Amino acid sequence: MDLNFTREDAAFRDEVRAFLDEKLTPELKEAGSLTTSVFTDKKWNLAWQKILYEKGWVAPNWPVEYGGTGWTEMQKYIWASECARAGTPHLSPMGLRMCAPVLMKYGTPEQKAFYLPRILKGEDYWCQGYSEPGSGSDLASLQLRAVSDGDDYVLNGSKIWTTHAHFANRMFCLVRTKWDGKPQEGITFLLLEMNTPGIKVEPIITLAGEHEVNQVFFDEVRVPKANRVGPEHEGWTVAKYLLEFERGGAYAAGLAVGLEKLRAIAMAERAGDGTRLIDEPAFRRKLDETEISVKAMEITEHRVMAELAGGKNPGPASSMLKTRGTETTQAIDELAVEALAYYANADQRAAREPGSNIAPIGPAHGLTVMPRYLNNRAASIYGGSNEIQRGIMAKLVLGL
Ligand SMILES: Cc1cc2nc3c(=O)[nH]c(=O)nc-3n(C[C@H](O)[C@H](O)[C@H](O)COP(=O)(O)OP(=O)(O)OC[C@H]3O[C@@H](n4cnc5c(N)ncnc54)[C@H](O)[C@@H]3O)c2cc1C
Repeated sequence: MDLNFTREDAAFRDEVRAFLDEKLTPELKEAGSLTTSVFTDKKWNLAWQKILYEKGWVAPNWPVEYGGTGWTEMQKYIWASECARAGTPHLSPMGLRMCAPVLMKYGTPEQKAFYLPRILKGEDYWCQGYSEPGSGSDLASLQLRAVSDGDDYVLNGSKIWTTHAHFANRMFCLVRTKWDGKPQEGITFLLLEMNTPGIKVEPIITLAGEHEVNQVFFDEVRVPKANRVGPEHEGWTVAKYLLEFERGGAYAAGLAVGLEKLRAIAMAERAGDGTRLIDEPAFRRKLDETEISVKAMEITEHRVMAELAGGKNPGPASSMLKTRGTETTQAIDELAVEALAYYANADQRAAREPGSNIAPIGPAHGLTVMPRYLNNRAASIYGGSNEIQRGIMAKLVLGL
């Protein structure tokens, strides 16, 4: 494993920096900096996607034949790092990083030809219909009924925690098509349009006061069988393949930026007495420990990257990256709340609206600290909780 840049890599990094300097407008940068979870506001993430699409840089992880960049693993890493450093809006992962790899592997030629270009251009906005009330960690117990009726399935039931379902025009979804035998053997993977009659989306407001997740109700919803991905009753295999991509991803670059911001807060002189938090040994120790975790994360990602360069998929390593990445994210969030003390507590939703002229209470960098802390509590739950990831690692990596 070589962590040094070659001359070509350094030239690529300079090219990326020049591109970001030119294309990242102040509005996009503001939208990026006000992002308090995985998701940037739809308007801004699509605006950024359009710019990347025009450049041909929207999907670094896709094969070139479908519109990928053909970058080396190191180039992809440089790209992710530079985007984190510059504070770009986040692209929604649902289409680009989750649904697309599944379509590439399991979709029919017609499905690939129709959906993949639309995902690349940002013409469709996807949501994920996996979890149900009562079926989260134990996903195979899901009960949304899909009964065969001619060329359609007829769906009844509900999905919950469906992120951005209120923005999405399409959902990839797991449904039950068989009720006897092992629960895993009666699941089917479907694609559906959110404006199909019988679908109702109800908001769930998070602890941070934001509308990001929903419950989605299905009442006699007809979905053409042509929208099925993979064979009937065999959606579990498709679903698990998708989860490898949901759980993987690069954390280290974003963590390093979060740590840098935290250090800046800790190094600032405090109003009143001119002391600095960084000079308090107890805080300093926690900061140093977190920095070691971020470094370890970076090295681990490079190791996984070396394996991906050999053509492998993330596999169970994605469970390890997810667990450590989300735990380190939460450690940084906790320290940021501690560092901002009183100011972290203010509810400042209005001041956080992009373009808002409402002045923040306390330092401007404090605007997102508390919502990030609250939203990221969910990072160790969604995509399969960290306890479940530990179970996967015990079984598939350690062979216990
Ligand atoms: C903000 C947010 C966004 C989400 N977005 C989506 C989305 O877009 N689409 C979607 O389909 N889902 C989404 N989810 C749902 C998410 O995937 C589930 O919340 C998650 O899988 C956990 O399921 P659960 O909430 O039913 O908790 P439960 O499964 O009831 O788990 C409760 C607790 O028990 C523990 N536990 C359960 N089983 C085991 C076990 N076998 N071993 C050890 N510990 C165990 C869990 O770790 C957890 O701590 C989202 C969730 C959140 C919070």
